[in-house]
Amino acid sequence: MQPTSIAYTSQQVDLYMDEFKKMCQERNLRITRQRTEVFRALISSIEHPGAEAVFEVVRRTLPNISLDTVYRTLASLEEAGLITRVGISNQARYDAHTEPHYHFVCTQCGEVYDIFLPEGEPVAIPSEDVEKFGKVMAVNLQFRGVCTHCQETAKDCKNQ
Ligand SMILES: [Zn+2]
Ligand SMILES: [Zn+2]
Repeated sequence: MQPTSIAYTSQQVDLYMDEFKKMCQERNLRITRQRTEVFRALISSIEHPGAEAVFEVVRRTLPNISLDTVYRTLASLEEAGLITRVGISNQARYDAHTEPHYHFVCTQCGEVYDIFLPEGEPVAIPSEDVEKFGKVMAVNLQFRGVCTHCQETAKDCKNQ
């Protein structure tokens, strides 16, 4: 259940993939098939897939890839700052979308929902305080709670 349900067109994905190549070059990260396909699986999705879901998608194009390789590839992309890890600790989910947005993380089911800012609305950063510590490269704001779906499931259980 995605309240902000949008899907990416193949043209949008192609643009993101061009961006991916540029980012790899800037970071001297070798562009391998594995990295390309793992990134493509993430950028094509609005659902913040976990490693296993990425594995299922990537397998279709790289049938010999192992889950272990997917984990290692995710780690190298995360280290290079191309993707971010979201979600709860025992259920890591990944996001390749770097345009500013927030997340609602359900602490019960681990689902991660995107919250986009209204167009043109600046991210409220107490910049003077933050800049004392360094230069801001990204904002990672997370709301944690119980999603509507889990709340409804809990209600149903009580009513029975
Ligand atoms: Zn939930
Ligand atoms: Zn996201």
